Amino acid sequence: MSELERRPFVDEEHTELPVEKLSTEPSAGRRTGCPFHDVRMMLREVGLRPTRQRLALGWLLFAKGGRHLTAEMLHEDALKARFPVSLATVYNTLNQFTEAGLLREVAVDGSKTYFDTDASDHHHFYVEGDGKLVDIPDTLLLDKMPEPPEGYEVSRVDVVVRLRRKES
Ligand SMILES: [Zn+2]
Repeated sequence: MSELERRPFVDEEHTELPVEKLSTEPSAGRRTGCPFHDVRMMLREVGLRPTRQRLALGWLLFAKGGRHLTAEMLHEDALKARFPVSLATVYNTLNQFTEAGLLREVAVDGSKTYFDTDASDHHHFYVEGDGKLVDIPDTLLLDKMPEPPEGYEVSRVDVVVRLRRKES
């Protein structure tokens, strides 16, 4: 192994995951501002057992504020943070978090699903080409809501406004 390969991975943006803090011991008390403690509380509040994987992925998801991520992006973050986890596990965890209401799923293309750490009702711009999903800051009001068929009610309205760069 060369000197270069042995050098520890340092990335300004992706700080190494403090795995030693991933204790799954129950902790009492309220949210403290410590990301690990808060993720543990968050999981408990929605009835998910705080396993190491859920804590690690939860930390990567929620410690950086509002984010829109695909499973592949989170998988990459985990590997960069030196938390070895399979893409399948990332998918499972994201789906569990979504079912528990911690995340919101935003389908953009048939093949692309983003997970939003802001689970509240809001809409998105999707920048084609860049593959970037961003929040629309204002509330978008629909002039006329379609009447749902009999026996159904509107559960949620997802609006994705697709953008592309103007040709100059
Ligand atoms: Zn969003």
